[in-house]
This record gives sequence, C-alpha cells and structure tokens, in this order.
Amino acid sequence: MYIDVLLELKNKQMDQTYTYHVPKSLEKEIEVGKRVKVPFNKRELEGFILNCKKTYEGDFEILDIKSVVDEEIVLNEELLQIGEFIKNTYLCSLSSAYATMLPKALKASLKTNINKKYQTNLVLNLSYKEALSLCTSDKQKEIVDLIEEATRLEKREAQAISSSSVNTLLKKKIILEEQEEVYRYQSVSVLEDEKKVLNEEQQLAKNRILKSLDKNEQFLLYGVTGSGKTEVYMQVIESVLKKKKTAIVLVPEISLTPQFVTNFKARFQDRVALLHSGLSDGERYDEWRKITKGEVDIVIGARSAIFAPLKNLGIIIIDEEHSETYKQENSPRYNAIDVAEYRAKLNHIPIVLGSATPTLERMAKSTKNLYTRLELKTRVNKGMLPIVTMVDMGLEAKKGNFILSERLKTEIESAVSRHEQVILLLNRRGYSTTITCSHCGFTYKCPNCDITLTYHKTKNNLRCHYCGYTILKKDKCPKCQVPLDFYGYGTEKLEDDIKKEFPDLKVLRMDADTTRKKNSYENIIDKFKKQEYDILLGTQMISKGHDFPKVSLVGIINADASLNIPDFRSGERTFSLLCQAAGRAGRKDTIGSVIMQTFNPENFILKCVEEQSYEKFYNYEMKIRKKLKYPPFYYLVSIKVASRDYDLCSKEAVKVRDYLKNHLQEETIILGPTTASVFKMNNVYRFGLIIKYRFDAKLMDTLKELDKMFVFNPKVNLEIDMHPTKI
Ligand code: ADP
Ligand code: ZN
Repeated sequence: MYIDVLLELKNKQMDQTYTYHVPKSLEKEIEVGKRVKVPFNKRELEGFILNCKKTYEGDFEILDIKSVVDEEIVLNEELLQIGEFIKNTYLCSLSSAYATMLPKALKASLKTNINKKYQTNLVLNLSYKEALSLCTSDKQKEIVDLIEEATRLEKREAQAISSSSVNTLLKKKIILEEQEEVYRYQSVSVLEDEKKVLNEEQQLAKNRILKSLDKNEQFLLYGVTGSGKTEVYMQVIESVLKKKKTAIVLVPEISLTPQFVTNFKARFQDRVALLHSGLSDGERYDEWRKITKGEVDIVIGARSAIFAPLKNLGIIIIDEEHSETYKQENSPRYNAIDVAEYRAKLNHIPIVLGSATPTLERMAKSTKNLYTRLELKTRVNKGMLPIVTMVDMGLEAKKGNFILSERLKTEIESAVSRHEQVILLLNRRGYSTTITCSHCGFTYKCPNCDITLTYHKTKNNLRCHYCGYTILKKDKCPKCQVPLDFYGYGTEKLEDDIKKEFPDLKVLRMDADTTRKKNSYENIIDKFKKQEYDILLGTQMISKGHDFPKVSLVGIINADASLNIPDFRSGERTFSLLCQAAGRAGRKDTIGSVIMQTFNPENFILKCVEEQSYEKFYNYEMKIRKKLKYPPFYYLVSIKVASRDYDLCSKEAVKVRDYLKNHLQEETIILGPTTASVFKMNNVYRFGLIIKYRFDAKLMDTLKELDKMFVFNPKVNLEIDMHPTKI
C-alpha cells in the first residue's frame, strides 16, 4: 500500500504531498486523516495521510513510513474539505490551513507532546461477597466496601486512596487498578435555568429560523442591545438538539462574554464544550476529544471554534457578527464567518448572524434577500433605549474643562447620589501616527479616500496609505491656530483625574493592563456588578455585552478617537462601538443616560449615535462607500510587499502593480504602491497595494500566479489579504 502524506513543512514551496510505502504490518492502521511519522531528507517528520493507493507509478525511490501516530482520525472528511477551502480562498499553504484548524496536540508536528490524561481507579476483581470473604483485616474490608460503593455511585473521588492494605489487596488480586481517561478542564457548574417565555418578536424570529432547519438559509438577526438575542439562540438550539443535531456558537472572545457562556451553561449544562484562549494546550485537547467522541452537542468559542469537529451539525450561530475578531490577522488570514458559511452549505443547515449594529456588507445583503433579516426592535421587558446627549468639547475647553464636561460631572454626581452606577468609556484606539488638534479636534483627511492621513516623522509629512496623497505637516492647526498634537490620553491618566475630581467615589479601571492576569477580567466585572464600586472606566472592553442592572449613566470621554483611525471602516467602527457602549445604560427598569463628549458635534456618524438610528447611519455610510468605491459596492484585496531592502521593496512593489495591471480586468482598480500604514517595523519596510473589484474572473488565478512568483524570492515577501477588515 502507498500513501500520500502532507508533511509538517511551513514552507509554501514544499506545500505538496509526498508518497510513501506502508509496510504490511502497519497497513491495517492506515486511514486518511491520521498522522504518520516518515523519513524526510535524513530527518523524521510528521504528516497527514491525505490519500491511500494500491500502486505507485513513478521513478522516485519510495521510502517506508516509520509509524502511525493516531488511533483515531484527526482530520475527518469535513475538516479535510474545509482545509482545501481555506487554501483556495485565502491563498495559504494547505499545511498551514490544517495547522490553524487543529489544537496544538493534534497538529502534524514532532514538537508537540500533549498526551491524554489518565486516572487510576480501583475496582473489585471478584464479586463483592467473594472479595469480602478473602479480606484478612477490618481495614481491608473497609476498602472493599468503599470501592463497591464508589463503583455503584460512579463517584471516583472516593477511590483516591492508597495504603498498605490497598497494596495487599492488589497483590492478592482481590482488587485491580484500572486506567480511565479523564479530562483536565472542569468548568464551573451553573444552576439550571428555566427557559423564558419569548416575547412576540423573539417568537417570530425563532419560528422563522425553525422553519429552515433543513435548509442552507442565512439569517441576519438584527436586534437592538438588550432585545434578548441570546434567548432566541438558545431556544433555537434546543430544537436543533431535539432533532439529534449539534450546534456551533461563535462569540468574539469568550473571556469578554462570561455572561453569555453562563447562560448557555445554565440551560444546557455539560452538553456544552468551551474552546477559548484561556485553556492550556492539554485542556484544549481534552475539549476537542470530547467533541470528537460526541460527548457534547454545543461548542461555544471564539474564531477557531468554527473548526470544531462536531458531527451532525444542525446550525451555526455567530453572535456580534460585526466584531472584527472573526478575521485572523496573520496567515492564514481567514474569516470565521466565511468558513461558517461554507460549512453551513456543506451540511445544508442554517446560519444565524446576530448583531445590534450589523456590518454594512451583511445588512446590504439582507436588503437583497441574500440573507433573511429578522428584527428585534424593542428591548425585553419594554425597557427603553437610553437617551444620548452630545456635549461640544470645543466649548468646554474654552471653560477649562478638557476631560470632563460640566454636564458629565453633574450627571455622575446625581447618578451616584441615587445609588446608581456609572461607566466611562475612554476610546483610546487612536494611533500615535495620526495628528489631531487637542483644542478643536481637527484632523487631516485624504480628499480622495476620506481617511485620516498618517504622519511620517522622517519626512515630516502626512500621507494617505491608500492612494499616496501627501502634504507637509504644519505646526499649527489650520482651523484654530493652536499647536498640533499627537493623540494620547490614557485610561490611567483618566483614573487619576476622576479620583481627584471625585475623591469619595470608588473607581475601578479595566483595560489591557488591568486584565492581564487570569480571571482578572471576570473579577472586575463581578466586583462592579456587586456594586462594590461606583464608576467603571475603561477602553472598548467595557462596551461588550454585559448586563449591569444598576448602571444608569454612560459617559463617552472622547467620541472622536476612533473616527480618526486611518481606515475606511472607522465610521462604521465608531458607530458600532458607541452604540454598544450606550447600550450598557439603563438595562432593567431605569431609562439610561449617555453623555457623548466630542470636538465634532456636527459629525454625521455621531449624530446617528445620538439618535441611535442604525438606519440613518446605514443610508449615509452606504452613499460614501458607493461614491468612493468601497465595500459592499466593491470587494477589496490588500497586498503588502515587504523587505529589509528599501529600494528592492519599492521596485518589487511597482512590479507587482504592473503585473496586476496587465493581468486583471480593465474595470478593476489598483491603488498604490504606497507606504503601508505601519511602514517600517523591525527594520522591514512595507509597501501596500489595494485592489478594488466588483467582478473579476481573472482575479484568483492572477493572485495565485503572483504568489508563486514570490515563494522563491528570499529577499522580498508578499502578503495577500482577501477582504481585509483593516487596510
Ligand atoms: P442582547 O443579546 O440582545 O443584547 P440579551 O440576550 O443580553 O440581549 O438579553 C437581555 C436580558 O433580557 C437578559 O438578562 C435576558 O436573560 C433577558 N431576557 C431575554 N429574553 C427574555 C424574555 N423573553 N423574557 C424575560 N427576560 C428575557
Ligand atoms: Zn487617499
């Protein structure tokens, strides 16, 4: 027998299978999708069996495999297909696709050494009566009793006993040691929770999805914050499980959504497996095996959980579909939502994408009926959406209030006096390479692309990293003549300022620095929920789906910061972030208040937030996207040419452009090359090109060819990013 093996070689040049011979003694262990050890260039490597064949025709000398690694198949048929899909869609190597899909313990790599964990159990080797009759001491009888009871109750803890009497019993073969496979990850158990009676909108959404359980239909569940999307997901899944099928639920990041997970655990108990970044490699391996063995029906996890090897998949649900965490930012640059759609198609099942602020791409598709749109317009319990008030920081600055406006200060005081809580969002996602006037909020924008210009220190100029438009940096703000500044005010400083302003209040900070330790995120959420603190301040982390019933006020310190990020999606991102943050205010029985501080009170996006009108935002943003030829009207591909040699890099980038111009269709737009947004990193220079296309039959072939041309170039690296979230 011969097999084709995909080896653990990262190198794109080697992305092909190699044929090996299987010695007779190993033949019965061979199955496609298992790993084998093979000799390769005087080394030993691991690889996946992708094909078996009886004969081999060729001139190469064929070597024998060394051994078969797995007892069970690692890559089942579906995963094999998904790997091919990823390779073809994102132009990566097949081995890197599989490496991304699998937990570390199952990757083809000799370096991993993560094993199954076993526990030793004691069992009786004879009948209870016989065993007792052979005991020679009370201690021994006690042990036999204990084992008998533990076995009957399936209580394993009782068996962790060892003593000389145990040894005697073992020697006399009255009892035996048995190895049992155990799982390392023990998630906390949660009290069971009754399902809720759905309101009318929820019921309609649920019924509509249930009607299509055997179809590959795509749903967009567009529901305002607090409209009870999670309850809809759970009840739909309940019906899926009743049909003996399974479900994958994707969330942006497990640690940021403890409540979501708790809800699922409470409803479905230990039929749920969690795949998240906090798991050790061993724990992840165990969760994966539980899934393979069919011990769970629901998998909840972040991006990579889309590869969970659930059999009999019945539905895929993606919460917060607008989240950019679904796209992987390094190779393979896959988008879990694309993979989910592919998987749903393979299985002929529905997929549900939920959000309070859907991406323009998906909302646009729903207006063309490519997605079925389901709406939840009201909050559960008829709760009201909060009232958003915009405060002009330009005016406040004149009064000497640079950080907290009068209005926000007063509202904090009155909320706290009513024993309510406050959330303050410091949206800090500005780049230090964008320049903003701290006095009036002015920023430079590209007249062609409508994105913020990036500052280049070496030449003291400002550049558009899409099209290359360049101007010289001025020292003073052209609008108000105050010296121009880099953006830079952090949460730590805000915490100090708040403490000075309100010495009696208890302030809790949440950002990347205070949540580094394991569980620190949950601890902060927990403490705040228990009302041990008055104010929670932090970065976008705090805007995620938490339910704090006592929060009545949300303050947005600088609504502008994310508007100024040099990216065509910055408006969409800002709208989404601010609406999510606003949604934290007044979730139970109080009407919430949101104070939004800005230097740009005329900004249309912010006005949409003020009115909390997704529709208005959508119509406005769609017009801009259309005019400037951005998604959803055009698809994008981002190409980066990188090298340590500046001249070579710039020359190759021009060659890439020429190649694209010569091979792509005429209507396709090619921008650049221009210096990339992160131009020089670790002494590697990067030039960027952007392809905008609507339909180009030659695109994929051209990109594949281009990719091949650089595979063998040791000095210049080419990165292709299909449908990037950021460029
Ligand atoms: P969303 O995800 O849409 O923002 P959630 O799913 O967090 O909203 O729901 C908000 C709150 O409403 C949760 O505490 C949830 O348990 C509760 N809830 C959802 N549906 C119902 C219902 N039909 N009846 C009562 N409470 C509900
Ligand atoms: Zn431009």
